[in-house]
Amino acid sequence: MILKEIFIKGFKSFAEPVRLEISNRVTAIVGPNGSGKSNVVDAIRWVLGEQSMKEIRAQEREDVVFWGNEKKPPAQFAYVELVFENGNERVSIARELSRDGTGKYLLNGDIARLKDIRDFLMQHGYGKNPYSIIGQGQIDRIVSSTPENLRTMIEEIAGIGIYREKKKEALSKLETTQINLNRISDILFEMD
Ligand code: ATP
Repeated sequence: MILKEIFIKGFKSFAEPVRLEISNRVTAIVGPNGSGKSNVVDAIRWVLGEQSMKEIRAQEREDVVFWGNEKKPPAQFAYVELVFENGNERVSIARELSRDGTGKYLLNGDIARLKDIRDFLMQHGYGKNPYSIIGQGQIDRIVSSTPENLRTMIEEIAGIGIYREKKKEALSKLETTQINLNRISDILFEMD
């Protein structure tokens, strides 16, 4: 799955709608300090479901909504959409958050839960830890990570991390079922 377009409106310093087309080769974003280059990366992390405020350099959830300046009033909501090319298909993932704190995710234009977005991303090799975004200092961490962590990382990139997650979910359900079965057998024993 290849990222082709980023549409940003009302997110952080992007008061006006901006559509960035990503080339098949290398795309570089250049600009003076503080002009919003890192905000583009924050926008990508955010739309892909980032929940950590630290990762998107914000204090509160609503901090990502353009807060206004002398020339422009604050935005009512932040909206970011990513368009991917997946084989012959185009896939769009979007996230919106209004100033009052209500938000939603959209998968191909339909309202989706965060879980749907995460499952979809995991199936396409984009795990909980988005290794497709390599931040400053992360290379050092990858080079010095343990073999176990490297294996988890490779599994996520290969798109099989989802099966590990599903196994974990299934094992936990199995455990609950076993507890229920034990309870039923206790009750049956008492009735006898
Ligand atoms: P550098 O080259 O110094 O790393 P940069 O081009 O990566 O800079 P960013 O860090 O992306 O710049 O942008 C920082 C700017 O974004 C700051 O001027 C900050 O005021 C602005 N900003 C952050 N959140 C908001 C917001 N909610 N509304 C308006 N502006 C915001």
